[in-house]
Amino acid sequence: MIAPLIDSFGRVHDNLRISVTDRCNIRCFYCMPEEGAQYMDRAEILTFEEIERFVRAAVPLGITKLRLTGGEPLLRRDLPLLIERLAAIPGIRDIALTTNAVLLGKHAADLYGAGLRRLNIHLDTLDRARFEQITRRDDLTKVLAGIDAAVDAGFENIKLNIVAVKGLVEPDIVPMALYCRERGFEPRYIEFMPLDAQSLWGRSRVLTADEIIAVVSREVAPLRAVPDADPRAPATEYEYSDGGGRVGFIASVSKPFCMNCNRIRLTSDGKLRYCLFAIEETDVRGLLRSDASNEEIVAVIRGNVAAKWVGHEINSPQFVAPPRPMYSIGG
Ligand code: SAM
Ligand code: SF4
Repeated sequence: MIAPLIDSFGRVHDNLRISVTDRCNIRCFYCMPEEGAQYMDRAEILTFEEIERFVRAAVPLGITKLRLTGGEPLLRRDLPLLIERLAAIPGIRDIALTTNAVLLGKHAADLYGAGLRRLNIHLDTLDRARFEQITRRDDLTKVLAGIDAAVDAGFENIKLNIVAVKGLVEPDIVPMALYCRERGFEPRYIEFMPLDAQSLWGRSRVLTADEIIAVVSREVAPLRAVPDADPRAPATEYEYSDGGGRVGFIASVSKPFCMNCNRIRLTSDGKLRYCLFAIEETDVRGLLRSDASNEEIVAVIRGNVAAKWVGHEINSPQFVAPPRPMYSIGG
C-alpha cells in the first residue's frame, strides 16, 4: 500500500461516497426544487467502468468503505451490477446504499444478491399527508413496501434517515422512534443542513439532536450515549437504557464533527469533493476518460485531500452555501 490519504489536519480518509445519479423520483423540499430541477446530461454522468476505475485507483490510498448515493441511486439502471463490480475490488470491505426506498420493492432482492448488506433508508414520517408535504409526492405506501421487501430480502441493521426540520417533524419523532424500535431498525435523526435548492434553510428551522434526545428519552425510553461508539462515524450513537436498540444523531449544525471526518465524495459527473459543503471541487472525469495513468488519478485525489479545509462554517457569519444543492452533490 502507498502512503494513506491524510490531510493537513492529520485526518485519515478511508471512506468514499459515490453519487451515481443526480436524478430523483421525489422532491424533498430540503433537497430539491419543486419544479425545474436542473439535471446533468447523461453523457456527463460517469459510467460504471469509470466509477470502477476511480475506486481501483483510490483503494491503494486506503479507501476501504463505499457508500452509493444520489439523487436517488435506484434510478440508476443496473445498479446491482455496479455493486457486484465494486464488491469484487480487493480492499473494499464495506458497501452501503442510501435510498428513498420508493423503488426498493422492485430491487431489494437483486441488491442483496449483488452483495449489498448495508442500507440507509430515508423516511421522515409515517403520516401520508406529511410525507406528501415533505416530498411533494404521494409515495409513502411504496416506501413502506420497499422497507418490507428489504427485510424479506435479508437486510439487517437497517438505518432510517430522518431529516430534522423544526416546525415540521416534531409529531414524527416518537412514531418514527417506535416504528424503528419495533422493527429492529436504527433511526438517524439528521439536523437540517443548508443544502436545499431553494434557500429555505435557516438556523431557526434546525431541530437539534439535543431537542430530539430529550423527547425520545421522555416519551419512548431513556437514552444514554454508547460508550464505545466509533468516534469517526458521523452519527453520535445513543442506546435505550432498557435494551431497546440504538438511535443515531447527525448533529452537523449544533455539534459539527468535522475534525473526525474521514470522507471524500465523487459526484455523478465526476467531480471530487473533500466536503459536502466544499465550494471548490476537482474534476476527475477528464482523467477517467483519457488514457491517464493510475498515478495521475492518485495525484489528483491527494491534491484534493491536501486542500481540505478544517471544516464547514455553518455556524460562522462568513458561511457560504455550496453552489450545488444536496441532490447534485450526493448526500
Ligand atoms: N435519495 C436518497 C435519499 O434520500 O436517501 C439518497 C440521496 S439524499 C441527498 C441522502 C440523504 O440526505 C437523505 O437520506 C437525507 O436524509 C439527507 N438530506 C437531504 N437533504 C438534506 C438537508 N438539507 N439536510 C440534512 N439532510 C438532508
Ligand atoms: Fe431525492 Fe433523496 Fe433529495 Fe429526497 S433527499 S429529493 S429522496 S435525493
